[in-house]
Amino acid sequence: MKYISTRGDAPALEFEDVLLTGLASDGGLYVPEQLPTYSREEIASWAGLSYQELAFKILQPFVGDAIPADDFRAIIDKSYASFRHVGITPLVQIGHNEWVLELFHGPTLAFKDVALQLLGHLLDYVLERRNEKVVIMGATSGDTGSAAIEGCRRCKNIDIFILHPHNRVSDVQRRQMTTVISDNIHNLAIEGNFDDCQQMVKDSFADQSFLGGKRLVAVNSINWARIMAQTVYYFYAALHLGGPQREMQFSVPTGNFGDIFAGYLARKMGLPIKQLVIATNKNDILHRFLSRNLYERSKLEHTLSPSMDIMVSSNFERMLFDLYDHDGESIKQLMEDFKTGPLVVDNNHLEKAREIYDSFAVDDELTCDTIRETFETSEYLLDPHTAIGVKAARETVRDSSLPMVTLATAHPAKFPEAVKKAGQDEDPALPYHMKDLFEREERYTVLANDLETVKAHMRDNL
Ligand SMILES: *Cc1c(COP(=O)(O)O)cnc(C)c1O
Repeated sequence: MKYISTRGDAPALEFEDVLLTGLASDGGLYVPEQLPTYSREEIASWAGLSYQELAFKILQPFVGDAIPADDFRAIIDKSYASFRHVGITPLVQIGHNEWVLELFHGPTLAFKDVALQLLGHLLDYVLERRNEKVVIMGATSGDTGSAAIEGCRRCKNIDIFILHPHNRVSDVQRRQMTTVISDNIHNLAIEGNFDDCQQMVKDSFADQSFLGGKRLVAVNSINWARIMAQTVYYFYAALHLGGPQREMQFSVPTGNFGDIFAGYLARKMGLPIKQLVIATNKNDILHRFLSRNLYERSKLEHTLSPSMDIMVSSNFERMLFDLYDHDGESIKQLMEDFKTGPLVVDNNHLEKAREIYDSFAVDDELTCDTIRETFETSEYLLDPHTAIGVKAARETVRDSSLPMVTLATAHPAKFPEAVKKAGQDEDPALPYHMKDLFEREERYTVLANDLETVKAHMRDNL
C-alpha cells in the first residue's frame, strides 16, 4: 500500500517509511492512497474472531508486503498480551441501547495503549531487520508519555526520552512513567510547563544533529500506525452488537481527532456506522467547526479531562483531506490560512461532514453530573473523559433504537480528582496489577527549562 501526504507535495511512501516518519516533508500528514473496502457479508464472516485475529484481518492490507504474515501475527499477539482482559476491548452496557467500549485494559489504563503497544513492537521488528537504532522523543501532560514508555520498554533498538512538566502531572501519571526502570527509558522532568516541553521536542525534530546520526521518531498521534490500530475496535464492537447487519452509533471523547478519525475510516472501509459524535470538553474547536463552520484557535482551558485539553486537533487535517476528495492543493491553502486566522470550509464540504458527524461540548460541571448520574443508575464509574462521551451521546443520538457505543478512553482510577468532585467519597481503586504503584522505585531527572541543557543530557545518555 502507498501512503500520500495531505498537502500533495511530498513523495509517496511505503508502510515501513511511514512508520519511521513524522510529518511529511511538505508539512502534511500521511494517509493511505486508497483504503481497502469490504462488503457486509465479508465483515459478517469475521464475527467469531478473537480481537487479535480481527486485528490481523483489518491491519494486514495496511502493512502489505512490509512484514511477512506470520511475523505480523506474532507482533499483534505480543502487543495485546499485556492487556488484562481476555476480550482486549470489552463492551459494558450502561443503559438501554447504551454501551461503553472499555479501551483501558492495557498497562497504563488509557486507550493509547491499544495503539502504542502495537507501535512499539512494529518499530522494534523493523529496526532489528534494518539493524538501526532510533531515538523517540516526546512531550507529555500525562497519558501519551506513559503509554509510549510501556510500548517501548523492551525495545532494544529504541532510546526513549519523555519530557513532562516538573510537579505538574498527577502522581499516578508521573509514577506510571517513572517507575518503569530500564536503561533505554529516560524520564525528564522539565522546570517549565507542558508547552515548554512540547516546544523543545519540536525544536529537536527541526535540528537533529545533536544525536550523532540517529534519527528521531514521533510517537504522537500523527503517526499513521497509531490511527490504523484504532480502526480495529470499531469493527470489534459492531460485531458484538449485531453489526454489520444493523448500523452502529459511536461517541468519542476527542482531543487530537485520532481516535474518532479511525472510526471514520472504519466506516469508509464498509462498516455500517450511522453517526460519529465528536465529544469535547471546554476546548471545543471541533464543536465550533461543526456547529458554526469556525475552526479557530482560542485560549487553552484546563479541565477535569486533561487528555482532551488541546487548542488545535492535529488529525483534523486528515479528515479535511478526505472531505476534499484528496485535493492536496486545497488543504495546503486551508492550512496556510489557518496560520493567521480561522479555517472556514465551503458549505457543501461542511454538509458532507454533518452527514456523519455530530458534536457536543461538555463542561466540568456537566462532566461531574454525568459521572454521578451514571453511577446512580447503573453503578458504573466513568472516568471524566468517558463521561463527556456519554453525555454527548445522550444529547445527540440520532436513532435510539440502534446501539450507541461510547469509547471509554481511561480508567477512573487515573483521574481521582474528578471522581471525587462527582461525589464519590473514596478514590477509585487502582486495578490489581497496579496496586503497588505507590511503593515502586521511581527514576527521573529534573532539568532546567533550557533546550541546550536537555540536548546535552540526551547526548550524554545515548
Ligand atoms: C488522548 C486521549 C483522548 C483524546 O484522543 P484523540 O485521539 O487525541 O482525540 C481522550 N481521552 C483520553 C483518556 C486520552 O488519553
